[in-house]
Amino acid sequence: MERTGKGKKMKKVEVGILGATGMVGQRFVSLMEDHPWFKITWLAASERSSGKKYVDACSWRLREPMPERVANLSVNECRPSGAPQLIFASLDSRVAGEAETEFASAGHVVVSNSGNHRMSPDVPLVIPEVNPDHLSLIRTQRQRRGWKGAIVTNPNCTTIFLAMSLAPLDKKFGLEKVLMTSMQAVSGAGYPGIPTLDILGNVIPYIAKEEEKVEAETKKLLAQINNGQIKEGNWAISAQCNRVLVEDGHTETVSVALKTQPTRHDLIAVWRDYRSVPQERELPSAPQHAIVVREEMDRPQPKFDLYTEGGMATVIGRVRPCPVLDFKYIALGHNTIRGAAGAAILNAELMRSEGYLD
Ligand code: NAP
Repeated sequence: MERTGKGKKMKKVEVGILGATGMVGQRFVSLMEDHPWFKITWLAASERSSGKKYVDACSWRLREPMPERVANLSVNECRPSGAPQLIFASLDSRVAGEAETEFASAGHVVVSNSGNHRMSPDVPLVIPEVNPDHLSLIRTQRQRRGWKGAIVTNPNCTTIFLAMSLAPLDKKFGLEKVLMTSMQAVSGAGYPGIPTLDILGNVIPYIAKEEEKVEAETKKLLAQINNGQIKEGNWAISAQCNRVLVEDGHTETVSVALKTQPTRHDLIAVWRDYRSVPQERELPSAPQHAIVVREEMDRPQPKFDLYTEGGMATVIGRVRPCPVLDFKYIALGHNTIRGAAGAAILNAELMRSEGYLD
């Protein structure tokens, strides 16, 4: 039960998780253990897991203990029958597209982490601090597809930290060009992930479809919505993505060219002052500071800065002039918290605050 301002108790919204046994699914379970609005009542995964208790089906890989109540829930097969209306989805992308469509067409609201539907023109791709107005695409989606349900997505775990850092710059100074190179953690590849012999002592300069995703999703996130149509800004982006031997946390080096000529101080002030809808509405998972700027020469680092604001912040550092473009900096974030489960939970909180879950 959730206490309202007047001391009345409101019933929590029951939620289900598709892909509950995976890396992101486990984060959902952990982050929603004591959630004031949502209560996990239903889990699903592949046929390898269905029919088992969660504790027996899941290779739990988080440091936090598995919540006891969820440990005893049964894992279902990925079918809408018996599932609650609100579904968080973190399925393997080979099956996510079809499964999410099946749930949404059966009337469920699917808040998804997977890439399959992100770039559909009638599917909102949302970061609550960046483009909360894109949720209005739900109306277009429902009209076009004849659904009572809906699919809403959050970006890829690399895109989100880049887009978080760029959105305030675009609003204030206008973007012209963006170059981004990532150093991405192994947990981004799911469980069990990359074989040890491929990654130990190594850097893998290729992550399938990642660069295309980062480029396309960032443009969509920073786009304007006019009459249900997405209108992208006139600026260019190039991404290079690498896998490195870090457990959690994606680090990104970014260079930007801007339409106006701010100082380094102006950039830092815009990031530090950035407040948006989740902070104004005090949504339960909203970080107090969505962007945290560090001034030390050698930060941010995954080892020290990953859990800033409970893993929900984008941490920026090493802001300095770029001899080729205008400025360069580092952005860091937690790929399975703000880059995945935490992002989806915040999206659902935004949706609830706008009446989309009533
Ligand atoms: P994962 O650890 O490999 O988990 C995949 C989940 O999908 C498991 O629960 C698995 O169930 C389930 N699954 C696999 N095949 C299935 C099938 N045929 N039918 C039903 N369920 C099936 O992957 P992950 O890292 O959690 O990623 C999940 C999704 O989130 C992916 O689309 C990924 O791209 C996206 N994502 C991941 C991250 C990240 O940092 N890891 C960040 C953002 C987005 P079983 O355990 O039963 O096999």
